[in-house]
Amino acid sequence: MRVAVLVKHVPELLSDRGLDDAGRTLRTADDSTLNEVDENAVEAALQLVADTGGEVVAVTLGPAIAVDALRRALAMGAHRAVHLSGPELAGGDVVATARVLAAAVRHLAAEAPVDVVLTGLAALDGLGSVVPSLVAADLGWPQLTVVEELGVDGDVLVARRELDGVTERWRATTPAVVSVIDTANEPRLPRMKDLMAARSAEVTTLGAEDLGLAPDAVGAAGSRTRVVRAERRPPHPGPEIVTDDDGEGGRRLAEFLVSRDLVGGTR
Ligand SMILES: Cc1cc2nc3c(=O)[nH]c(=O)nc-3n(C[C@H](O)[C@H](O)[C@H](O)COP(=O)(O)OP(=O)(O)OC[C@H]3O[C@@H](n4cnc5c(N)ncnc54)[C@H](O)[C@@H]3O)c2cc1C
Repeated sequence: MRVAVLVKHVPELLSDRGLDDAGRTLRTADDSTLNEVDENAVEAALQLVADTGGEVVAVTLGPAIAVDALRRALAMGAHRAVHLSGPELAGGDVVATARVLAAAVRHLAAEAPVDVVLTGLAALDGLGSVVPSLVAADLGWPQLTVVEELGVDGDVLVARRELDGVTERWRATTPAVVSVIDTANEPRLPRMKDLMAARSAEVTTLGAEDLGLAPDAVGAAGSRTRVVRAERRPPHPGPEIVTDDDGEGGRRLAEFLVSRDLVGGTR
């Protein structure tokens, strides 16, 4: 099987995440990483190919720094990496993003058939959970979502989904798009030598022109939505500590709860 795995480079969950003046996600080398759930997608792709033979191609769309996500996927065992990048691709909304990712899959399929596009469930920054479906729709391929277990039976994909106490078993012909859940597997930890090798591994960079996409179909120009306003949430005021050093703590606590309308009918 030939699997294209879509991986996104995102700010670390625990980092002090922010937006730039244009309302775009700030990403720096120090506090950005491969989207955690996409590690499950890479793991699922590697397991699929281990069972069937073939190739895993990691694909990302993002600025120069997004190459780090590809290097992580390579260190985990992906065979090749494709970085979709260029000024014309910046600022894309989910539809423009999916259009570019689908074009990249077509580009890969022109070399040799792509059987599966594997993705994570959601990018932990944008949290749209919509890119896999948009890619499937653009390609006109069937889609399996929220997959817990993935395998093959002949040339058919077999998947298990766990939903609200119901176990579903699905079969899909290839080519297909599959998004896996974070409990689907335990992503392997790359060894130091693989991390080192990935740092200098070759990465193919493609822009809109390479993919046969017009500049006005991608990035901000190709987006039909725009960020109207984005602002930081005001910092949380922090806890108010009520002491009882003078025996008045209970009264002060009651006054505090009443002042915040947290208890009713006491005024
Ligand atoms: C108007 C507008 C402008 C925007 N401008 C920017 C911008 O300038 N810079 C910016 O970084 N973001 C920008 N975004 C956000 C950007 O569109 C999303 O980050 C992107 O489309 C992915 O959506 P998501 O994060 O909701 O992914 P989800 O749909 O939650 O992702 C699900 C899965 O899809 C795959 N996937 C998602 N995105 C990518 C990717 N880029 N490469 C590879 N695989 C992927 C992964 O497997 C992921 O697990 C903008 C959004 C809007 C609406």
